Amino acid sequence: MNNQNILVWFRNDLRSHDCETLYRASEEAKQTDARIFPVYCFDLAHFDETSFGFEKTGAFRAKFLIESVANLRESLRSLNSDLIIRLGNPDQILPELTQQLEIGSVYYHAEVTTEEKTLEKKLRSIFKEQSVNFQSFWGNTLIHRDDLPFAIADLPELFTHFRKQVEVNLTVRQVFPIPDRLPTLPESLDIGEIPTLTRLGLKEPVPCDRAVLQFKGGEHEALKRLDHYFWESDRLQVYKQTRNGMLYADDSSKFSPWLSLGCLSPRYVYAQVKKYESDRLDNDSTYWLIFELLWRDYFRFVAAKHGDKLFYRTGLRGLDIPWKQDWKRFELWQIGNTGFPLVDANMRELAATGFMSNRGRQNVASFLTKNLGIDWRMGAEWFESQLIDYDPCSNWGNWNYTAGVGNDARGFRFFNINKQSQDYDPQGEYVKHWLPELEAISASKVHQPWQLLPVEQQRFNVRTGVDYPHPVVDLFASAKANEEIYNAAK
Ligand SMILES: Cc1cc2nc3c(=O)[nH]c(=O)nc-3n(C[C@H](O)[C@H](O)[C@H](O)COP(=O)(O)OP(=O)(O)OC[C@H]3O[C@@H](n4cnc5c(N)ncnc54)[C@H](O)[C@@H]3O)c2cc1C
Repeated sequence: MNNQNILVWFRNDLRSHDCETLYRASEEAKQTDARIFPVYCFDLAHFDETSFGFEKTGAFRAKFLIESVANLRESLRSLNSDLIIRLGNPDQILPELTQQLEIGSVYYHAEVTTEEKTLEKKLRSIFKEQSVNFQSFWGNTLIHRDDLPFAIADLPELFTHFRKQVEVNLTVRQVFPIPDRLPTLPESLDIGEIPTLTRLGLKEPVPCDRAVLQFKGGEHEALKRLDHYFWESDRLQVYKQTRNGMLYADDSSKFSPWLSLGCLSPRYVYAQVKKYESDRLDNDSTYWLIFELLWRDYFRFVAAKHGDKLFYRTGLRGLDIPWKQDWKRFELWQIGNTGFPLVDANMRELAATGFMSNRGRQNVASFLTKNLGIDWRMGAEWFESQLIDYDPCSNWGNWNYTAGVGNDARGFRFFNINKQSQDYDPQGEYVKHWLPELEAISASKVHQPWQLLPVEQQRFNVRTGVDYPHPVVDLFASAKANEEIYNAAK
């Protein structure tokens, strides 16, 4: 029996580059005759329903996940190994595998949110009984948890304070190299098949040629996207000016889906930004991409500090706001039929593609909570179901902020959808892209089609209320009413 064998448990770290678990396992295997067993388990709990009854993992994200796992398998095959696939409950499957494969150690990347930590805890106690070493690594943030200039318990409650403190002496660790070669897996081993969408209880999503980018999962595609955005099209140098765009693939990096599943390592992105700064240009934009990655880190550390509170109705601040669970209006929001073109275009994009820009997310989340007064968790769960880049920390963290229950809540703040539309889509190109029924309307009225005069409606062949809905609420009156409710709760 060789109990030096190592099982590398892949989770949201679906890559071979900068993968500490795989790297450490391969270094150890060089010293011993240990075997390495890379494993990915499709966790049935991820394909359940959310508390409001949505698919926990919608078809777009599931497809992206399947592609990412398939690509990891290819990467491992090119290193002489393979990826063992299982479908079921990891707390049953992993202990069975450790027994079957005579495993001495299980290496994995630690997560911070409740469901993931509960699973880790269960496994820890099982492995303790089996005398298996269950060893965690930290690999999903730019800054390693141990390099923070404060303990997680002392994490500042304001992002700006966090950023300023970490920037004093920003330490980003080196990227781990891809192992040259891994030990082969025994031929007799059942490697397992990657499940289809149908097997996961989902339907194949309809491809959308209007999508901002045809996202495909996997580290290969992630690295290709980075090469394109940084080196081929040179868009990093204008990132700060273009990042709020909603219409074009290169308005922003679009790294998020790959970062969320770990197909792309944030430390690798950082190393490439530094290379770009030394080889090409060092400006506000190159800094700003790092700045945004710090937001991502921050939400992960917030989740580590505050635990379950992130998911409570009362949020990180514990504000007891009487949110409505108005399903009729919620459904108008979900399908993009609120009568506010900016909100509707973004919600239709999400439903048709599984992606929405950051500008869009901020507006639709503000509208749901500050204008419709609807329970922010319904919005967060809908995003969880739909987004291909869903990340529990970034999603629930950002929703906390937008709903005004986050740790930095500075009173009632809402997005003026009319102004946002003018500022970020002045010609109405974005809304027309997703709302073809508004195509003929002039830029000056496309964001407020309810203002069209009857004669204009005829000219543009648009009848608001029939072809396109009347606004579901008055923007300012609804915000005022919800502000009163918010202030009363404070
Ligand atoms: C209500 C709401 C929900 C969100 N849910 C998610 C989510 O589930 N997953 C997710 O990855 N992002 C989420 N975001 C953050 C942000 O909208 C996306 O990361 C961004 O739109 C992804 O596009 P990009 O990669 O082109 O971003 P870029 O502008 O190119 O930014 C580069 C990277 O920085 C990080 N980043 C940028 N902005 C933020 C932010 N506000 N918070 C955290 N990280 C950020 C992302 O990893 C992103 O890929 C959410 C934002 C809001 C307002």
